[in-house]
Amino acid sequence: MKALVYTDTNKIVYRDEPAPILEPGDVLLKVEATGICGSDMHAYHGKDPRRVPPLILGHEVAGTIASGPQEGIRAVINPLITCGTCGYCDTGFSNLCAQRELIGMRLPGAYAEYTKVPARNLIPIPHQLGFIKASLAEPTATALHALNLARIKSFRPLAELKVLVIGGGAIGMLTALLLKGYGCTDILLAETNDLRAESAVDHTGCRAYNPITDSLEAPDCFDLVLDCVGGEKTRHLATAAVKPGGILVHIGLMDSLGGLDIRKITLSEVTLIGVYCYTAADVRAAVNAIDTGLLGDLSWVETRSLSRGAEAFSDLDNGLSAAAKIVLLPDS
Ligand SMILES: [Zn+2]
Ligand SMILES: [Zn+2]
Repeated sequence: MKALVYTDTNKIVYRDEPAPILEPGDVLLKVEATGICGSDMHAYHGKDPRRVPPLILGHEVAGTIASGPQEGIRAVINPLITCGTCGYCDTGFSNLCAQRELIGMRLPGAYAEYTKVPARNLIPIPHQLGFIKASLAEPTATALHALNLARIKSFRPLAELKVLVIGGGAIGMLTALLLKGYGCTDILLAETNDLRAESAVDHTGCRAYNPITDSLEAPDCFDLVLDCVGGEKTRHLATAAVKPGGILVHIGLMDSLGGLDIRKITLSEVTLIGVYCYTAADVRAAVNAIDTGLLGDLSWVETRSLSRGAEAFSDLDNGLSAAAKIVLLPDS
């Protein structure tokens, strides 16, 4: 089969690869759409020790089941494969399972004609939902999970909060769209790529500013801050922006150290929440949110053919695309 393979730092090659070999319990999926994730870009830059080349990346996938009793059914994948039996899996926190694995990380991913996954990781999608939109279920589930955790800790409904979203990539964009869908009207987006900021303003109705050229309108005033980048600079911004008693949600995984002002977090009783992925319930809720139009028409999503995947990675790398998400489609 044809696949897009990460072969070395900043190198992605479209080439022939062996088709997946199914283990007991696995199902083959004919891939119809796979989104490029920020984490795939991180790997492309050679900065993710968990993604070792040569590797087929890609975990944001929608397709048609191509083996077993469900053959022909359209589905998305919950790419987080967990043991299903430990205490975390048992109580609905499967994203914390010690044995968790993500396809496209240490297992081959979905920038390919076919991919495989345990049958329990497939989530059927409604017949009217297109594959491109459906492939956004995975990043939407991350945004949904983050907002669900924030909602539990917030004394006020999300709709009433003044929110700062840091990063206008797909997670930032989807977080802003979900917040808007929940009725939140006071959303500021911090984004350094002006093309992306413009697109976010157009599609989410939020306000945007560039944290490199402009300073924050006022520090200590945001009820909820979501750092969708997760770097030293953005953590610094997040801590400065959050108000006493507010909530800081850390989603991005750009780097590990620096930026947090623990003294402020302590003295101001800021709630700090780390977010990793989602549960299976979050992925199902994400499919529903997309299908019911909660996220709008998603017209900001761009598509490219799988064979032109290397160019898509390079364009994203060089900030040439305004799209917060590029979805790769198999060549017909
Ligand atoms: Zn992703
Ligand atoms: Zn488990």
